[in-house]
Amino acid sequence: MTEDLRRRVRDFLAAHPFTPRCDSWAGSYDLSFSRALAAAGLLAVSWPKHLGGGGGTAVDRLVVTEELLRAGAPLAAHWVGERQIGPTLLRHGTPALQEEFCPPLARAEYTFALGMSEPDAGSDLASLRTSAVRDGDGWRITGRKIWTSGAHRASHLYVLARTSREADRHDGLTEFVVAMDSPGITVTPIVDLRGEHHFNEVVLDEVPVPGRWAIGQVGEGWRQVVGQLAFERGGPERFLSTYPLLSAVLDAGLADGTARRELRALAARLQILRAWVRETAQVLDDGGSPVVPAATSKYLGHQFEQSVIEWARPLMPRAAPAVRALYDQALAASPASGIRGGAAQVMLSMIARDN
Ligand SMILES: Cc1cc2nc3c(=O)[nH]c(=O)nc-3n(C[C@H](O)[C@H](O)[C@H](O)COP(=O)(O)OP(=O)(O)OC[C@H]3O[C@@H](n4cnc5c(N)ncnc54)[C@H](O)[C@@H]3O)c2cc1C
Repeated sequence: MTEDLRRRVRDFLAAHPFTPRCDSWAGSYDLSFSRALAAAGLLAVSWPKHLGGGGGTAVDRLVVTEELLRAGAPLAAHWVGERQIGPTLLRHGTPALQEEFCPPLARAEYTFALGMSEPDAGSDLASLRTSAVRDGDGWRITGRKIWTSGAHRASHLYVLARTSREADRHDGLTEFVVAMDSPGITVTPIVDLRGEHHFNEVVLDEVPVPGRWAIGQVGEGWRQVVGQLAFERGGPERFLSTYPLLSAVLDAGLADGTARRELRALAARLQILRAWVRETAQVLDDGGSPVVPAATSKYLGHQFEQSVIEWARPLMPRAAPAVRALYDQALAASPASGIRGGAAQVMLSMIARDN
């Protein structure tokens, strides 16, 4: 089954040409590519069939994403919706909410941005200030989200907001779906050091949200979001962002004797990471929340991606422009890989606390 799936992805990639890119899941946005992937039955492969998915497993999804990431395919349009919003709705959403959102997400008709971080709430997410107050049957959300990747192109925003003040600040948080075309939303671009527009600040000013768009239990958002972070951190994108560079260097025959020797250690680390995320996917299939294993692969994956860049660096003077472009993309994205989805030091302290 998985080898058949792997072949289907390779056939799809051969039939849908694109320019490979490092960090393509975050930085390479092509809605028509995402929709073609969906039409070929290669999106949401682990979701139930009656909700537009493929009826497969998290391990099946891992096989598909590994192939797409290795190739540097443009995945940013559907990434957040397919990786974590759909799975969160499948775990916590009502059947009605699942039916409303999962099929259009599986077709890449709806696209999501993640509204977690705030100017004073990053690693310490529970200190967030965005609030949701009752308004009839629905809610009004007010606050500021920052570093919101892709919010300028998304149809919907996931928002974590405070719905009540409790003695323990981890209590009283709730997850919401918000339509980006709602009144009261202002999106301001934040241009990164590469000059690319990827991040945004999103200000919400009494944005109306229907009551049915609260995800799961009101006030239980913290416990739910901790599970969601396993989906966010535990996948192969945490170590395959620089793989297109590694394979382009090898295909171009640039690896000299030293690079070939060093490659053995890199290959061994890659195999360990692949085995690790496969086990993580199996825990997800069993209904678990592998939060610490996901933090571990995120931390080690970040280290691996940095090592690939260091490995390629001395070979770049002899590289053709296309290979050099992959190196430049990997290098420019490298500071972000240790921060996005949770800072490396925070991952280390989570791992340490668990042992
Ligand atoms: C490329 C990119 C894309 C992003 N996309 C999104 C998005 O789409 N949606 C979204 O909501 N957020 C997004 N973020 C934000 C990201 O989740 C936060 O940047 C991250 O959680 C860290 O928060 P912070 O920036 O506020 O840093 P802080 O929390 O202020 O941390 C700064 C540094 O302090 C250290 N530190 C903090 N706390 C601890 C601790 N407890 N123990 C040890 N060291 C600590 C760490 O070294 C950390 O790097 C994105 C970030 C990047 C870089």
